Amino acid sequence: MSIKGTATVVKNAGSHFMLSELPQWNPFPAVLKGKIRLKGGSSTNPVAVGDLVSYEADVPEGAGLEAVDTLHPATISEIKDRRNHIIRKSTNLSRQSHVIAANIDMAYIVVSLYFPEIKLPFLDRILVTCEVYGVPVTIVLNKTDLYREEAAEYLEDFHRIYESAGYRVMETSVWKNEGIDELREDCKGKVCLFSGESGVGKSSLIKALDPSLDPKVGKISEVHLQGMHTTSLYEMYKISTGGYIIDTPGLRGFGLVSLEKEEIALYFPEMLKASEGCRFTPCTHTHEPGCAVKEAVEQGTISVERYNSYLGMLEDDSKFRQ
Ligand code: GDP
Ligand code: ZN
Repeated sequence: MSIKGTATVVKNAGSHFMLSELPQWNPFPAVLKGKIRLKGGSSTNPVAVGDLVSYEADVPEGAGLEAVDTLHPATISEIKDRRNHIIRKSTNLSRQSHVIAANIDMAYIVVSLYFPEIKLPFLDRILVTCEVYGVPVTIVLNKTDLYREEAAEYLEDFHRIYESAGYRVMETSVWKNEGIDELREDCKGKVCLFSGESGVGKSSLIKALDPSLDPKVGKISEVHLQGMHTTSLYEMYKISTGGYIIDTPGLRGFGLVSLEKEEIALYFPEMLKASEGCRFTPCTHTHEPGCAVKEAVEQGTISVERYNSYLGMLEDDSKFRQ
């Protein structure tokens, strides 16, 4: 007897997968049936964690999905259109890319003002990348116990810079158990991607959200992702209070995109908005007369920090292309 259905990929181990019919959590194994190509895809893994797929499974008469096991896996027959996806470029010479995750409801970018000290231009590049991919972002400012009082002004500046650009900033302190309930509440009903530079407390944060999750255990090394025969191991976990988590190893796990110079400003939401008032189109917002973006920077409605990041990306787009 054959059963058919639609499920979400919750684990991608390169050649085999685990599927689950969200919002239930009933992971069962699956393999690909022949070759499935996404339209125009040169991706090394056409199926990614978060993909919604059609599956078929042969089970004994009267049985259900519980009869699907590694010896009798389901087969994936179709990948549904993605709402969004995040790509990482392979470092090998084939120029292939690697889809880390698809259909992400929220990317939580975990940062800390200190230890490690945040570099705003780098954060801005990550934000641009999320904009390009069409993935909604929340900035999670962790370790606030270290600087809520000691660097109150800097903290205020940080909020001003990013909130005026249209981003939401949540504050957490794992050590003081502050902001954790709010974050846990925010994750409910969402497929959440967690990303952050090593040391910012991402693992601690995930563990605080759900003590049964421990990203440091079984976490794969970045090295494994860079070989010629890339096998990926991205996995989605259920948060016991609701929602799903995909943990990416480090910020480098999150490939930056290639952009033409004139495209960069389109992905700074506050600049895109202001640019409607520029006298020239296209406008690079550098030397042109009647530039509404430069005017907004002078008036303080666009922050100097974000504008400087933009200028940095314009000058330095070779690095940006990585
Ligand atoms: P990851 O590399 O981002 O996964 O970071 P970890 O979770 O391993 O945390 C790195 C270090 O930061 C550890 O020593 C944690 O104890 C510490 N840490 C995590 N969260 C906080 C916090 O809210 N406040 C402070 N002061 N330290 C934290
Ligand atoms: Zn302009």
